[in-house]
Amino acid sequence: MPVNLAKAEPEPTATLIISRNSSRCSNCRRTALADQTIHDVIPGWGEPRPGCGARFTATTTDSPGMITPARLKAQRPDLPVKDDQPETARTSLNPGDRAAWRMLRRTDSEQ
Ligand SMILES: [Zn+2]
Repeated sequence: MPVNLAKAEPEPTATLIISRNSSRCSNCRRTALADQTIHDVIPGWGEPRPGCGARFTATTTDSPGMITPARLKAQRPDLPVKDDQPETARTSLNPGDRAAWRMLRRTDSEQ
């Protein structure tokens, strides 16, 4: 049987779940490094173990009260923040963020 090289396996993707002290992969739920592009290695003590190989396409957190979307964006500016908790995200805006929004709106109206 000839191998069809054109038919590639679809690349698995995952969301990088950034917590306060660690990060996880949404695909296999195992530990990941916050700066990993692909979950190729599971960090930990001792010998590194191979990860599931999923490519991280977004970030999210399981501690939305402590980790804001801005913090996720600062951690991984290359990945979009998965906005599956819009209510939490809106109410967790801190005063600094609100001031930034006001500044943004003022700039808009001046133009
Ligand atoms: Zn994984």
